[in-house]
Amino acid sequence: MSTPSGTTDPIVLRSLNTAHLGEVQPETFRKLMQGIAAIAALTHLSFLCVFLWAGVDLLALVNVGSVACYVWVFFVSRSPRYRIETAWTATVLEVLGHAVLATFVIGWGSGFHHYILLVIPVAVVSPIRPLALKAATVLAVALTYIVLDATLRHRVPPHVLPAAVQEGLYYFNVFGTMLILTFLAGCYYYLINQAHAALRELATTDPLTQLRNRRSITEAIRREEARVQRGVPYLSFVLCDLDHFKSINDTRGHDAGDLVLKAVSAALSKGVRDVDFLARWGGEEFLAVLPDTNGDGAALVAERLREFVAALELTHDGQPLRVTTTLGVATLREGETAEQAIARADAALYEGKRGGRNRVVRADALPVARAAVAAVHPAELPAV
Ligand code: GH3
Ligand code: MG
Ligand code: MG
Repeated sequence: MSTPSGTTDPIVLRSLNTAHLGEVQPETFRKLMQGIAAIAALTHLSFLCVFLWAGVDLLALVNVGSVACYVWVFFVSRSPRYRIETAWTATVLEVLGHAVLATFVIGWGSGFHHYILLVIPVAVVSPIRPLALKAATVLAVALTYIVLDATLRHRVPPHVLPAAVQEGLYYFNVFGTMLILTFLAGCYYYLINQAHAALRELATTDPLTQLRNRRSITEAIRREEARVQRGVPYLSFVLCDLDHFKSINDTRGHDAGDLVLKAVSAALSKGVRDVDFLARWGGEEFLAVLPDTNGDGAALVAERLREFVAALELTHDGQPLRVTTTLGVATLREGETAEQAIARADAALYEGKRGGRNRVVRADALPVARAAVAAVHPAELPAV
């Protein structure tokens, strides 16, 4: 059920943030750019040393500029005062310009062209808008690479490095490209895992109460049923329904109803163990699944939950707000499915409503014939 206050829940806001799952969020892109800038600054520092040592002054000078550029990109990416597009544009221009110049001066065999390809995966996931600009960047990168290949691959460069230096540089660049590719792949892997975790949380959490939803607890029930089949002796269910909740909504408003649901959820959470499962089962119904707990233990838990809720001192619009619950308890029997046990808990709950509410009723305490009718169709039960 969607609620007006539900839209401000963090989980819902997070769901909006995962709207463009294929694309990283601007904040994440900033972090990605910081990583890229740090690696690029260090790589270019090592180029600077190589070119100083090899006596290619022009490229040594270019690398001084590149190191300065990436230090600047690093700080621009960190500061929200600057648009991330600025850092990204500088990076693309540096990669392309540097690769073209280095390939032009010392030849295709130096392997600088590899870095051009690294722009494509970053451009694709970037939050850069409009999309046409993104496409243009990818196209420009591809064209630069192809034109470089076509014009410079077979040409003797103006500055021929000693063969050993050329070879060393080539493999350094291949290794550097692989290193950056690994970094990028690692980042994407991390982002996919994060998006997956966010989606999983969305799919299994009730946005209003932050409890498990019905889907999630159903999975837990399946696992616990399997454990019972493997020899765990007990599995109990406590079904909990707020008393006269409709009248809270009707007299105090929907917001008051939501406030009660949240407060009750928090109170119920405190009343169960870490190994138990608690979910919002329906509108104002909650289900606690108690592994390895017999009927007596489950009844004690249910009584504690009832007391916790009855003790809640809530206020809405400055007026006190009281709430009570009725709870039905059932323990899985030999040959019974969890659904059947929950239906018995529901029947016990119904008995509790008929008996005056704000109480715990054990399904085991119901006469067998009466429990069977109640489990199938509670409304048809004759009065006791
Ligand atoms: P009983 O004691 O017999 O359980 O009576 P009740 O009024 O609690 O039961 P009923 O089933 O008549 O009413 C349940 C109400 O719960 C009706 C529905 O509008 C309300 N409800 C369900 N989900 C939400 C929700 O997310 N927020 C709010 N505020 N109300 C909800
Ligand atoms: Mg109900
Ligand atoms: Mg109710």
